[in-house]
Amino acid sequence: MEETYNVKAIILNRKSFSEGDSRVIVYSRENGKLELTARGAKKIKSKSAGHLEPLNLSDIMVVRGRRYDYVGAAVSENCFSNIKNDLAKLAVAAQAVKIVDQAIRPGVVDEKIFELLEEYLEVLDTAKKDFFARGGSALGEKIFASFFVLKLLAELGHQPELSRCLSCVAKIQPGKNRFDLARGGLICGRCAKSGDSNQLAISDDGIKLLRLALKSDFKRLAKVKISKKLGQEAGGIVDKFLRYNFN
Ligand SMILES: [Zn+2]
Repeated sequence: MEETYNVKAIILNRKSFSEGDSRVIVYSRENGKLELTARGAKKIKSKSAGHLEPLNLSDIMVVRGRRYDYVGAAVSENCFSNIKNDLAKLAVAAQAVKIVDQAIRPGVVDEKIFELLEEYLEVLDTAKKDFFARGGSALGEKIFASFFVLKLLAELGHQPELSRCLSCVAKIQPGKNRFDLARGGLICGRCAKSGDSNQLAISDDGIKLLRLALKSDFKRLAKVKISKKLGQEAGGIVDKFLRYNFN
């Protein structure tokens, strides 16, 4: 008898393989990242194929194979259709699954990463259609994507130090602080080295925004209104922090 196991998973990627088979990469609650073969998903237009679309949250029965585990059956629990029908939402959702795919190796089991991605997709899916198109000081899609990246980095062991200087351990005071990419957190004005390209200028509001992102859930963060300038500043720092750690 074939050995099977069940997982609840978010589909990260699907690639065509040989003879109509495809390779499906998922992040599951139970087993972390898995690479599964979906047999003949294209050829026979199997019932499972539609449930294995990227971004879907699906219940998958996996059959253990000699070389690869493969999909025995799959049923979508949530297709996140509002995301798929909104280009701005789709862009940030696709970016999130891509980063999870690139940053995480198979075998790392962390339920919190699954929950982080699931909650992010749920908030994006249920947010109003013009979520990212509100006038004036709206929440930009870039900064919302950065909130996800920052939380993911924290979960992967790169939680930045934002309360004390990483050099002198003094409590961070408002003023000329810097974000040190190499050391992963703030350096106070007195300890900052001019000319160190790993030390980025960060405003007091930028520090507050990063702290808020780390301690708040996406539902709360979806309501935050920030200026474009602040969004660009904080988003830029998170982006560089991601590339410093995963490149
Ligand atoms: Zn210091």
